[in-house]
Amino acid sequence: MFDHPSYDHHEGVHFFEDEASGLKAIIAIHSSALGPAAGGCRMWPYATGEQALRDALRLSQGMSFKNAMASLPLGGGKSVIWGNAKTDKSPALFEAFGRAIESLNGRYYTAEDVGVTTSDMALVASQTKYVAGLDTGAAASGDPSPITAGGVYRGIKTCAERAFGSADLSGRTIAVQGVGSVGGYLCDHLAQEGARLFVCDIDQETVTRVCERTGASRVNTDDIYDVDADIFSPNALGAVINKATLGRLKVKVVAGGANNQLASPDMDSALREAGILYAPDYVINGGGIINVAAEISGEYSRSWVMDKLDVLIETLGEVLDEALKASLPTNLVAERIARQRIAAAKRG
Ligand code: NAD
Repeated sequence: MFDHPSYDHHEGVHFFEDEASGLKAIIAIHSSALGPAAGGCRMWPYATGEQALRDALRLSQGMSFKNAMASLPLGGGKSVIWGNAKTDKSPALFEAFGRAIESLNGRYYTAEDVGVTTSDMALVASQTKYVAGLDTGAAASGDPSPITAGGVYRGIKTCAERAFGSADLSGRTIAVQGVGSVGGYLCDHLAQEGARLFVCDIDQETVTRVCERTGASRVNTDDIYDVDADIFSPNALGAVINKATLGRLKVKVVAGGANNQLASPDMDSALREAGILYAPDYVINGGGIINVAAEISGEYSRSWVMDKLDVLIETLGEVLDEALKASLPTNLVAERIARQRIAAAKRG
């Protein structure tokens, strides 16, 4: 475990199994230097336990960086439930997951991620108070994805300003991979501004709904990398920027809501060398965790969320400018800042 390639000094990795409900979950806590660890719960039918562990570790490290870049008093953690969100869900499973979180005594707060809904979180909340993204309750913040998508939209404009000399997206061609919660809301923003959209999703009904709503064109999932577009926006799963896909991209910007877009750290400089401006995922997609943080604070305030989001988008611009000025990969610059913030908190 300690020599796992994605371990990166995790403070704790917890495995939970509940035979009665079929729950198999991993809760990874990367760092609590800035505060209790917070990050969503993903439900996914991983092929192996090793894949589930790798995802949990990488996502949890990403949450440390994300919370640091959003200037939140939260550390980094993430949970994965190993199962199929369409066939394996039950109230007993999410209640068992809630008990697992409760057993960590507030070291980790959860919320929604891929495959998990607000009604699932309501079941979790019946067993623990360390949960956010709820529809009801004094500080309820609801589904974080509209705020995430709003931040990604503004982040894409921030990138466009650097790459094309204008933040205006009307007439820009944008290839959107994954049009679920975040990708779907993002398409609404982009279409409203007059962008030309090419979209794909493994769920064809979801694609149909988004195409009808936004006038987007449907693309096969495997063809999305080849679209002759200005911007590629990944909003599905991670590792989509890899050796096989990079050479196919014709875009000048990669900016989207998906976590862990780079399959390996070297993709960061490979993107730069290919002349593609990359918005570090854990910076551009921080809107959702800001919304969740407001709920965790016990007093949800929309204006606090919007102020934090403004600062986050400014931070993204600063990261891009520093990277462009110093001819460095954007992810390297962002990670350096995030690690500095975490190290400063550790020193007290
Ligand atoms: P979601 O489950 O609502 O949407 C994901 C969509 O991606 C689904 O429609 C799914 O069918 C599709 N998909 C999966 N594999 C695909 C593939 N190979 N090609 C095309 N489409 C594929 O999840 P979401 O909440 O919209 O999250 C999307 C991404 O954004 C995830 O990486 C998530 O971790 C990240 N993220 C989400 C939030 C949030 O607020 N929900 C916040 C930060 C980051």
